[in-house]
Amino acid sequence: MTRKMIQDFIKGEMIDQVDEWEKNGMVSREIWERAGELGLLCIDMPEEYGGGGMDFSFSALFIEELAKKGITGPGFSLHSDVIAPYLLKYGTEAQKQKYLPQMASGKMITSLGMTEPDCGSDLQAIKTKAEDKGDHYLVNGQKTFITNGYMSDMSLVAVKTNNGTEKEGVSLLLIESESEGFEKGVPFKKIGMKSQDTCELFFDDVIVPKENLLGEESSGFKIMMTELARERLIVALNAIGGAEGALQQTIEYTSTRTAFKQPIAGFQNTQFKLAECATQLQIHQAFLDRCTQLLSKHKLTAESASMAKYSATDMHNKVVDECLQLFGGYGYMWDYPIARMYADNRVARIYAGTNEIMKILIARGLFKELFQEMKKAAKKNNVRS
Ligand SMILES: Cc1cc2nc3c(=O)[nH]c(=O)nc-3n(C[C@H](O)[C@H](O)[C@H](O)COP(=O)(O)OP(=O)(O)OC[C@H]3O[C@@H](n4cnc5c(N)ncnc54)[C@H](O)[C@@H]3O)c2cc1C
Repeated sequence: MTRKMIQDFIKGEMIDQVDEWEKNGMVSREIWERAGELGLLCIDMPEEYGGGGMDFSFSALFIEELAKKGITGPGFSLHSDVIAPYLLKYGTEAQKQKYLPQMASGKMITSLGMTEPDCGSDLQAIKTKAEDKGDHYLVNGQKTFITNGYMSDMSLVAVKTNNGTEKEGVSLLLIESESEGFEKGVPFKKIGMKSQDTCELFFDDVIVPKENLLGEESSGFKIMMTELARERLIVALNAIGGAEGALQQTIEYTSTRTAFKQPIAGFQNTQFKLAECATQLQIHQAFLDRCTQLLSKHKLTAESASMAKYSATDMHNKVVDECLQLFGGYGYMWDYPIARMYADNRVARIYAGTNEIMKILIARGLFKELFQEMKKAAKKNNVRS
């Protein structure tokens, strides 16, 4: 029933708006509120905070159905499945009461500010700083490539606290967009995801009350590393939905388009290519179903999430490329969803941690003991020198 409701929502209220959203470089506020009304935001948040009180697998359904139709404009999953869980897990009761119900209704849009112009993969090197001023922090710095950035009403921002002291570390602050000194850049012109309002955030002497600290001071890096597993699984689920959508479109197209007096699907090359794509899709779907179950039981490891993210997004890229080829020249035309899918999905190998970083995390798990010994040895040598 949920799947059918989601499909109707996408078909009846979203698909026809994509051109307009692309022209504007962002989606409408109404679509956020409509998703909230239908109970599709914060699906697995407890009902007492306005959420759906359901299992994560229902969120996964929404992610996959959107991806199948190539809807990449509204950053619903980042909002509902990444930022809301940060609040639920690490927020104070007051923070949860203040933000979660508004997020679930779609009246408040949120973004996550980690990346900076000088650092993305190496998050410990962030420079945005929050000076302790007693009852508040004074925040100065800049974030870039922020999904939902332009439309967001509140951003969860990674900052450096206790600069230059022994306690220096990364902390997480909830910063409301109306705060004085908080500015946004215009949405970037990207090669894909053209209706997604990805932009820069600027902080110039922004006063952030101490009660907006999420979790403990200097614990931000540890929190992010724990929560990133969920974000990476979401990107992988998106890839599965996208690959399935591309495959469906291509089966339909090649069944009707003809060349040399037969459907394109009649050529063995077409059949073999699509057979390979379908096989890859099934293999990844099985692994991701397992990861989704593990996440629901809070047992998904960083290594498994990294495997899912890198492998599913690589697979998605290859599938869409093969599918586009089978559309011939039409595949290169923006009016054809396969062209959008091709442009939209490329970034998945880059964001939420690049696929190279995913392999580093997997390898860390493989060589745990060796790396620990190497770390100890390096520390000893530093002490001696
Ligand atoms: C459309 C879009 C949306 C985004 N949304 C968000 C968002 O909402 N919030 C947010 O905070 N960020 C967001 N990002 C940023 C994204 O997470 C970063 O771009 C990504 O983590 C890579 O960081 P970087 O761009 O600084 O690349 P770099 O870190 O400069 O990396 C450049 C290249 O070097 C490689 N590399 C780096 N370190 C190593 C290493 N140790 N070993 C091997 N190779 C390495 C990388 O894999 C990459 O290929 C978004 C980006 C895009 C494009």
